[in-house]
Amino acid sequence: MARSASDNRRQPGTEKDGAAGGTTSHFIRQIIEEDLRSGKHEGRVVTRFPPEPNGYLHIGHAKSICLNFGLAADYGGICNLRFDDTNPAKEDPEYVAAIQEDVRWLGYDWGDRLFFASDYFEKLYHYAEELIRAGKAYVCSLSSEQIREMRGTLTEPGVESPYRNRPVAENLDLFRRMRAGEFEDGAHVLRAKIDMAAPNLLMRDPTLYRIRHLRHHRTGDRWCIYPMYDFTHCLSDAIEGVTHSLCTLEFENNRPLYDWVLDNLPVDCHPQQIEFARLNLSYTVLSKRRLIQLVEGGHVSGWDDPRMPTISGMRRRGYTPEAIRTFCDRIGVARRDSTVDFALLEHCLREDLNRRAPRRMAVLRPLKVVIENYPEDGAEMLEAINNPEDPAMGTRRVPFSRELYIERDDFMEDPPRKFFRLAPGREVRLRYAYFITCTGVVKDENSGEITELRCTYDPATRGGDAPDGRKVKATLHWVSARHSLAAEVRLYDHLFAAETPGADHPQGDFMADLNPRSLEVLTDCRLEPDLGRFAPGEGCQFERLGYFCADPVDSREGQPVFNRTVTLRDTWARIRRQKGRK
Ligand code: ATP
Ligand code: MG
Repeated sequence: MARSASDNRRQPGTEKDGAAGGTTSHFIRQIIEEDLRSGKHEGRVVTRFPPEPNGYLHIGHAKSICLNFGLAADYGGICNLRFDDTNPAKEDPEYVAAIQEDVRWLGYDWGDRLFFASDYFEKLYHYAEELIRAGKAYVCSLSSEQIREMRGTLTEPGVESPYRNRPVAENLDLFRRMRAGEFEDGAHVLRAKIDMAAPNLLMRDPTLYRIRHLRHHRTGDRWCIYPMYDFTHCLSDAIEGVTHSLCTLEFENNRPLYDWVLDNLPVDCHPQQIEFARLNLSYTVLSKRRLIQLVEGGHVSGWDDPRMPTISGMRRRGYTPEAIRTFCDRIGVARRDSTVDFALLEHCLREDLNRRAPRRMAVLRPLKVVIENYPEDGAEMLEAINNPEDPAMGTRRVPFSRELYIERDDFMEDPPRKFFRLAPGREVRLRYAYFITCTGVVKDENSGEITELRCTYDPATRGGDAPDGRKVKATLHWVSARHSLAAEVRLYDHLFAAETPGADHPQGDFMADLNPRSLEVLTDCRLEPDLGRFAPGEGCQFERLGYFCADPVDSREGQPVFNRTVTLRDTWARIRRQKGRK
């Protein structure tokens, strides 16, 4: 039964957090809505996300995940998770597990529809025999180089293989013996018999099966022939009853082959392949082939290094699934390749964190402050607001005492005119605490470096306001020295220094653009004590500094490590204005 599109468009909860397929209309929605109107697939919407388990998922995959799962949810359909695991040389169960974790973390559920192309190997094999019997496939015994040479070019037709007209019985016999393991790798391939003069090179008798004596992570040694992508993908879609098979633009040329295979075999379902532009993001690379080089070359600590554009890296960095889903909705879906500015991703992240992240105080580069008129052993608890954006998040109590730390760059001994923070003789506010005035500076005799500030406080300003109405020009964050927690904090910048890594180097050498300053480790930071109970991965805003989260890998009991998720300064509005003007 056909459901009308608008019935299912906005499910409860999807609008608020940008979940599901988002709210932006685009050409794929139009195709689906038209199909629902015309009853093309009996009103069904079935999509799939088909990763190859040869690496971890990146933010580009998130676009495809949000699109496939989101559209299914929005139109009352289903979305399968299918591993496209036909190349045992590059695949690994570690990737299979990581991919499932990432899709689930992004907020999507494939129910009981976890599939593997390798589960279809037997069916695919029978389809291949069927093509042979119909005279539409043949065993070719040319080497792969010969096949390549004889394929022709865009301007010249290819040359037919001398094996093209092998009788059906001989083809069947050879193909069965290929399966039985009688031949070495490369001795034969199975090719579709289409047209060596086709303008589309992919239609010039493409290879469907090749011999690979390799152990597969799921089928073990059962197979030594493996089907090619173009044969596997369309048939897997058809077997699963997929209606809309969404893929990226580079597969546009494969569409005639996708359709040819399905048109020439007795399948019940002929899904429609629809291409959309892949996500490219500035200052990073989105390709597993390149990301694996970063991992294997030791340029990052692993697939989940917080600088990586992988879902696992972004999770470790403190990104939220909501922010990523909102981003995927905002970038939209089009048929033209473009590069999205990293600043938009960070903008979506800040928007989400600003609403939800609790505020805490931390000092990254500590400078000691002694409040001379505060009792030696005194201490008190002061009330601090957890999130000014959300009163429901309440307040907490922060310890204050005679010795504090403030940020080193919040003080200047000889300040220029526009510096309004602490300086000798000047009064500032300590957030949620008191007004303090700097009365002296203590320096290291040898180096001349400032080691301590001497200050006085005004007890009448408790909570941060002066009863006599006097104003100060700055409010600083701080922590109590003796109550604070020592911590390591890692500051991250773009992994690449160039907007399009490799663009200005010979052979597009993207490694040449690695940003040598993408990681700064601060080992002497001081946190307000409450941060000690933060669970791995839990995040907050360090007031005035940015959003941070407890590193789930390297944090130890009593020795927290925090990652900077993103700074507070949003550059997106400025970039958008500049682009608008161009
Ligand atoms: P990579 O180039 O990173 O290896 P891939 O396309 O080989 O990517 P797959 O595992 O085959 O990786 O991808 C699974 C799905 O994700 C495919 O449908 C693919 O089209 C889609 N996808 C991959 N990269 C992007 C991207 N940058 N933007 C949008 N979709 C993508
Ligand atoms: Mg691929």
